[in-house]
Amino acid sequence: MSEIKLGIIGGGQLGSMLSIAAKKLNIKIIIFCDDQNAPAQNFCDEFIYSKYNNKEKMYEFASKVDIITYEFENIPFETLNELNKLKSVLPKPSVNRLIQHRLAEKDFINKLNIRTTRYVHIENKEDLLPLSDFLPGILKTTTMGYDGKGQYPIKNLSEIDSLNINFENDYILEKLVKLKKEISVIITRFSNNKYEIYEPIENIHEEQVLRRSKIPAEINEKIFKQSKDWAILIAEELKYIGTLCVEFFIDRNENLYVNEIAPRVHNSGHLTINAYNVSQFENHIRAVCSLDQIAIKKISNAEMINLIGDQIIPFRENPKIKDNQFLFDYLKKDIKEKRKMGHLTTLK
Ligand code: ADP
Ligand code: MG
Repeated sequence: MSEIKLGIIGGGQLGSMLSIAAKKLNIKIIIFCDDQNAPAQNFCDEFIYSKYNNKEKMYEFASKVDIITYEFENIPFETLNELNKLKSVLPKPSVNRLIQHRLAEKDFINKLNIRTTRYVHIENKEDLLPLSDFLPGILKTTTMGYDGKGQYPIKNLSEIDSLNINFENDYILEKLVKLKKEISVIITRFSNNKYEIYEPIENIHEEQVLRRSKIPAEINEKIFKQSKDWAILIAEELKYIGTLCVEFFIDRNENLYVNEIAPRVHNSGHLTINAYNVSQFENHIRAVCSLDQIAIKKISNAEMINLIGDQIIPFRENPKIKDNQFLFDYLKKDIKEKRKMGHLTTLK
C-alpha cells in the first residue's frame, strides 16, 4: 500500500504526539486546526489553518488525506459529518456527538448499568432551586468544557446569584463525590473487534486540572478489574475504533464511578510513550489506519508530571534531566497560567 496520509483535526499537544508516533510508522500527518499558533505544526507534515466551518478548507483538507481522526472532542458535529462524507472519520462522528454532550454521555453510561455520579439536567436558574439534595455539587456545561472550564462548584443555594452563571448554556448539576482517588483506563479498539488495554493509571488533579499520573495505580483488585471491564464494555458498545480513555472516581467507600469518557488519546496516557512497547498514540494510529495490532507490554512503572504555566521555564533554561526521565516541551509560544506547557515522565 502506498504511504498513508492521516488527517488530524486539532493541533494541540495531543496532535503533536500523534504526529511523532506517525513518523515511526511512516504515515504522513496533515493537521486541520483553527489556531494559527497550534503547537502541532512543529511536528506534522502539513498544516491547514482554518475555522471549523469553512467548507472550502474542509474540502482541501479531505482531498489531501486518506483517513481523518481528531485530537479533541469539542469539534462541531457538522464538521465531522461533512468530512465523513468525503473521507472516513474515525472514531465515528456519532460517537463524538454522544460523548461531547455530558448529559447524553452520562445517560449512555447509565444505560450500560455502569455507575456515574448523580446528575440532573439544568436549563435555567429555577431548575436549581429544589436541588439542595445534589449539593455540594458541580454545575458543568453540557458541551465544550475541558480542564474544569465551564464548571461551577456550588456548596449551597444561596451562592447561585454570586456565581454569575450564564443560563444561555445548558448544564448538568452533579453531586460531588467524596473522592479517595481518580484513575483512568485507556483502551484502543481495532476494526476487527479486538482491543489493547493499558493498566489503570492513577491521576492527581488540582483545581480540576491533571497534575500527575502514575502506574501502577494503588487500587484494590476488584477496582483494577472492574475499571477495565467497564472500559471494554464502553468501547464495545460504541463500536469504537481508535484510542479512548475512561476517567473514573473512587469514593471513600471504594465505590467506582465513571466520571467521563474522552473519545481520543488522553493526558493521563502520556506515560505510555515511555512505559510501554506501544504508546496510546501509536495504537490510535494503528487502529484508525488499520495497521497490524501489536500486543502491548509494560516496560516499566512510571510517573508523569504535567508542567503547567511557568513550571516549564526551569526545564527550558536547563533541560538537563536524569537518564530515566523524558521531557516533552509542547513548544507553545505563550506561557499562560493553567496552560499545559509540557510534561516530564520518570520511569521507576
Ligand atoms: P473536564 O471535562 O474539565 O475534564 P471533569 O468532569 O473530568 O471535567 O472534571 C475535572 C475534575 O474535577 C475531575 O477530574 C475531578 O477531579 C473534579 N470533579 C469533577 N466532577 C466531580 C464530582 N462530581 N465529584 C468530585 N470531583 C469532581
Ligand atoms: Mg475530565
